[in-house]
Amino acid sequence: MSVIETDERLSPTIRSFVQKRLGLLIDGQWVESAEGGRLEVLNPATAERICDVAEGRIEDIDRAVQAAKRAFEEGPWRRMSGADRARLIWTLSDLIEAHADEFAQLEALDNGKPHLVARAADVEIAIDTFRYMAGWVTKLDGKAGSLSRQPISDANFLAVVKREPVGVVGQIIPWNFPLMMAAWKVAPALAAGCTIVLKPAEQTPLSALRLGELVQEAGFPNGVVNIVTGYGETAGAALVRHPNVAKVAFTGSTDVGKSIVEAAGQDLKKVSLELGGKSPAIVLDDADLDIAIPGAASAIFFNHGQSCTAGSRLFVHEKVYDAVVQGVSDAAKAIKLGEGLEDATEMGPLISDQQLTRVLGYVDSGLEEGATVITGGGRVRDKGYFVEPTVMVDAEPSMRMVREEIFGPVVAAIPFSDLDDVLQLANDSIFGLAAGVWTRDVSRALRVSDALQAGTVWVNTYNIVDAALPFGGYKQSGWGRELGREGFDLYLESKSICIQY
Ligand code: ADP
Ligand code: MG
Repeated sequence: MSVIETDERLSPTIRSFVQKRLGLLIDGQWVESAEGGRLEVLNPATAERICDVAEGRIEDIDRAVQAAKRAFEEGPWRRMSGADRARLIWTLSDLIEAHADEFAQLEALDNGKPHLVARAADVEIAIDTFRYMAGWVTKLDGKAGSLSRQPISDANFLAVVKREPVGVVGQIIPWNFPLMMAAWKVAPALAAGCTIVLKPAEQTPLSALRLGELVQEAGFPNGVVNIVTGYGETAGAALVRHPNVAKVAFTGSTDVGKSIVEAAGQDLKKVSLELGGKSPAIVLDDADLDIAIPGAASAIFFNHGQSCTAGSRLFVHEKVYDAVVQGVSDAAKAIKLGEGLEDATEMGPLISDQQLTRVLGYVDSGLEEGATVITGGGRVRDKGYFVEPTVMVDAEPSMRMVREEIFGPVVAAIPFSDLDDVLQLANDSIFGLAAGVWTRDVSRALRVSDALQAGTVWVNTYNIVDAALPFGGYKQSGWGRELGREGFDLYLESKSICIQY
C-alpha cells in the first residue's frame, strides 16, 4: 500500500485520482504515450514518489496538435454560439469550484504549498479567471466603419474589422502555480475560440490532469483541450516547433523563453511570454510600517519566494531601515514550515532538489561577495526540500544574488536615502515584471509608479493579481500581457474586410 492510499488528510477522490493510471488527454480520450514512457511525480515535502504520469514526446505532441487542428477546423467548436461557448467555460469554473478543496490538496501534495493558501489563492483565482474570460466571449466585437481617406473617387466603402481566434495554441506552464497557470492560459484561449495543447511542468502535472477530467465532464467537444505531460526539452520543444501550432504561450524561466522565441521564429509563430523577475519592494520613510513590514515580508515569502513577482530586492529608506529589516526578519522567523497538507503550515518545501541547491547557492554567493545573513540561510529538516526564510543585508547592487532571479525565499535588503537614486537602482535590472512601494503620500506613490519599469506596481500592498488586471513584464520579463482584455486579445487575430459598394 502506498503512503498516499492511507493518508487521511487527503480526500478519497484525490487518493483514488493519484492511483489511476494517468494518461494524456488527446482528442477527448485518455491515452498512453506512444513510446509508453512514464514520468515520476514526487512529493517535495518528503522527496517520495506520489505516482507516475504518461511521458509524452514528439509523437504524442503531434497527435495532440492534429486533434486540436481538427477540432479547430472541423469540429462543432467554431460553429458554436458565443453564448454556448461561454456557458461551457462557466460550467468548467463551477466544476473547479465544486472540487476546490481537492484541487488545493492536489497542489499541496504535488507542489508542496500550504493547502489553505492554495485554496484561497491558486484555486480561487483559477475559478475567477475562467469566469472573467467567459464574460469576454459574448463581447468579442470587431468594428465597422469608414476608411480614413477616399481611395477611389465616387466609390463608397464599408470597412469591417473582425476578431478571429488565432487557431491551435501551444501552452507551456511552470510548476509554481500549477492550476492557476493552467487557468491563465486555457481560459482566454477557450474564450477566444482557440483549441489547445497544454504542456504542464514535469514537476507538477497532477492538477492539470484533474482539470482535464473536468474539461471532459463539462462537455467540451473532443480535441478542444488536449493535455500532454512530459519534459520541456522533448514534449515542450516539440510543441513549440510544431508547424500546425499558430501561437505559443509560455510561462517559465527567461532562458527557456529565449529558446522558445528562437524556435518559434523559424515559422514566425505568435509568441507570448511571462518570464522571470527581480522585483523591487520599496519602503519610503513615510510608510505605515504596520502595513509595510508584513507587506515586504509577504512580497518575498509568499509561495516560498517561488513566484516571478517575488519582491526579492528590498529597498528601505535609511530612516526606517533598521525597523523594517528587523520586522521582516521577525516575520521570517515566525513562518511555520511544514507539509502543505497540514493546516498549520505557512510555508512548504521548495519544488525540487535542483531548486534547493540553486537557492542555497545564491545564499553562498551572497556570503562570498560580502553580504550577511541575519535570518535563515540554511536547509531545514532532513527530508524534503525545505529552506528557511532568509534575510540578507550588506548587499550591494552588483552582487549576483541582487541581480539574478533566485526563485526562493531569500531577500536582499538595501538602504537608500534619495528617492531618485532608489528609482534608478530599482530599474537597474534586466527584468521588469513587478514592483511594490509603501508610502502614505499619494503623490510620491504615483511618482514612483510612473518611474518604475514594471508591468505591475503595487502601492501599499503586494502580489494582488486579478483576472481583470493585465499581467506581464517590461524588458526581459516577457512579451505581452495575460489576464484582462489584453490577455483575451493574445488569442485573437484581426481581419480587415474592405467592401466597395
Ligand atoms: P524551471 O527551470 O524553473 O523548471 P523552465 O522554464 O525550465 O523553469 O520550465 C517551465 C516550463 O517550460 C516547464 O513546463 C518545462 O517543461 C518547459 N520547458 C523547459 N525547457 C523547455 C524547452 N526547451 N522548450 C519548451 N518548453 C520547455
Ligand atoms: Mg528548466
